[in-house]
Amino acid sequence: MKAVVLSEPNQIEIQNVPLPKARQEDECLANVEFVGMCQTDHQLTQTGLPEKRILGHEVVCRLPDEESFFVLNDEIPCGKCSYCVEGLTSHCHNLRELGVNDNGGYAEKLLAPRSYLHPFDFKNPALGVLVEPLSCALRGVKRILTALALLPVSSSPQTLILGGGVSGALVTYLLNRDSSFSGNINLYDITKEKLSWSEYLSINRIKKPEPDLAHVIIECSGSSKGLETAFKMVRKGGLVCIYGVPRPETVFPISPLELFAQEITVIASMAGVTNEIIPKAIAIIEQDEDFFNHLLGRQVALEQVPEELLTWKPQPGTRTFVKVGGKNGNL
Ligand SMILES: [Zn+2]
Ligand SMILES: [Zn+2]
Repeated sequence: MKAVVLSEPNQIEIQNVPLPKARQEDECLANVEFVGMCQTDHQLTQTGLPEKRILGHEVVCRLPDEESFFVLNDEIPCGKCSYCVEGLTSHCHNLRELGVNDNGGYAEKLLAPRSYLHPFDFKNPALGVLVEPLSCALRGVKRILTALALLPVSSSPQTLILGGGVSGALVTYLLNRDSSFSGNINLYDITKEKLSWSEYLSINRIKKPEPDLAHVIIECSGSSKGLETAFKMVRKGGLVCIYGVPRPETVFPISPLELFAQEITVIASMAGVTNEIIPKAIAIIEQDEDFFNHLLGRQVALEQVPEELLTWKPQPGTRTFVKVGGKNGNL
């Protein structure tokens, strides 16, 4: 089968590889249909991995003899270690992550446990690539809402989202629709281009972040500049959430003394996709496909993946996605 293989840092190419063989009883060979191109894939391409790997963890596939489309839960925990016992499965000591430490979806076929494939029925099946990032955002927003209790204001916290990419869009969307959140949301993104999702939600975009205005700043860009801005601009007693994946070389932009003196609460949210959260994400997209369609960007072919991951130029505010399977997704 055709697959995109990362062998060394920045060495990624399309290759013909043998079909994967099931190693466990519940594994099945699925036909890959769509894969979302996540910034994590771009970062992994730059840093490389200890072994040759097929990346791609935002995967929509189909199974032989089944009508439905399926979305992959890419995080397969052991279920036995101390983190799994506490429900913190993303931190499992033995976590198998398809597209990171095991082969993922930038290929014609994917080997995955059957119980980690979730059926969905969207008018536009390509939207399935957003289920994984939305599942991560559901967990992130849950953590943010919990941390709001530490703020000096009990209602209407001024909230600033840094970064209008898909992560920023999903966090904004979930906060906006949550009845327990009464904050006023502003968005800052370095691009001057329009972000169709923020216009659709009528989110106010600011030209430049100002200090001392926001009680809550959610860093969704993953850039060191964004993180620096978050700590510089947040109000004393405020909350900073590190949501975008920081680059490996980024250092913490504030001294412990400043953090202490300003009493800033810092939270982070990495991933957290589980078989329980994925159906919730599916239900949310199913009810509002119009919004989520704004987040789909360019459609590319499997052959274009190496070039896309090396140059990394998604249309602002959208997910570039790969169309692998035979049938057209936008029927
Ligand atoms: Zn991702
Ligand atoms: Zn575990």
